[in-house]
Amino acid sequence: MKFDTKVIHAGIDPDPATGAIMTPIFQTSTYVQRTPGDHDGYEYARTQNPTRSVLETNLAALENGSAAVCFGSGLAAMDAVLKLLNPGDEILATDDLYGGSYRLITKIYERFGLKVQFIDMSDPSAVAEKITEHTKLLWIETPTNPMLKLVDIEAICKVAKEKGVRTCVDNTFASPYLQTPLDLGADLVLHSATKYLGGHSDVVLGAVVAKTQELADQLYFIQNASGAVPGPQDCFLVLRGIKTLHLRVERACKNAKKIAKYLVMHPKVANVYWPGFKDHPGYEIAKKQMRHFGGMVSFDMLEDTMEVANKVLSSTVLFSLAESLGGVESLIGHPATMTHASIPRPERLKVGLTDSLIRLSVGIEDVDDLLEDLEQAFANL
Ligand SMILES: *Cc1c(COP(=O)(O)O)cnc(C)c1O
Repeated sequence: MKFDTKVIHAGIDPDPATGAIMTPIFQTSTYVQRTPGDHDGYEYARTQNPTRSVLETNLAALENGSAAVCFGSGLAAMDAVLKLLNPGDEILATDDLYGGSYRLITKIYERFGLKVQFIDMSDPSAVAEKITEHTKLLWIETPTNPMLKLVDIEAICKVAKEKGVRTCVDNTFASPYLQTPLDLGADLVLHSATKYLGGHSDVVLGAVVAKTQELADQLYFIQNASGAVPGPQDCFLVLRGIKTLHLRVERACKNAKKIAKYLVMHPKVANVYWPGFKDHPGYEIAKKQMRHFGGMVSFDMLEDTMEVANKVLSSTVLFSLAESLGGVESLIGHPATMTHASIPRPERLKVGLTDSLIRLSVGIEDVDDLLEDLEQAFANL
């Protein structure tokens, strides 16, 4: 089955009881047994829920995995992956990591004896040198946030496999429509379904897709034992969002391309970060492993001050000032004071995260209206 058919049909059958074409929301905590142990595979809703099972089957198909396991948020999904490790194990993680992922590893799991190094993954051989006998997990994010750096998934996973280290790719920014890391050698794929999969900024949910059933079974055990399951209504909303994933991401990428090209020509803009530019250091990797270059664009201003950034951020009308990404509506954000405020300024500047850096999550509106919105915001300066 092709991707555009999978989003609508994979794992989704009419309800056998009624013929309902849409997956019912099984809003129940328990299931009645005929005699003790005599039931239809459903005992208690932390352990199994039919709405959640359909979403898990669908996500496994989209990422070409054996099985998926869903959680109450993207970070709850990451929490489950980290629970596969033991005290003393070491993680190597992409240095330009999602802030919440950074916080979970350093503020929670370091207390429980996990060790972590944040490294530049642009050079696979440099990654190989960092792997020791204690290294048990490579945590890969690509494209990164907000600098939109690229990691060569296939090359890094090859290095990891040679050394017997497990790999997990956070695929939130790309979505399975743009890239499928399991096909490139990864063991696990993580999603904050809150973003492109849900796609309508109305739900928080997370998922992990495993290459092998064995790994999925370990995650199912953790899902049931730790209990961070999503509610059935939220699973339904993500299933509904996924049905248009290909159309939304296709359009967001098309809009982002036009916006990136507009920004790069603008006299008040300094740098534009978008992997579709030929001089972007990750251009060749993006072309190799992604279908399009994504719906995220970052840029900074020639007059690099917080004041100038603030003026732009408070002047846009269609671009709403908010955290998050991947919804149908366009969002604008200021990493230095919002998502990356906890990083000391000198550290920020070193990676190019300047005071005036602005991040756009480009939505699926008419791109001419979006361009006009940016133009009037710049005219205000
Ligand atoms: C939002 C996000 C997460 C966390 O997901 P939640 O659903 O907010 O818990 C993890 N990784 C990336 C790249 C994200 O953008």
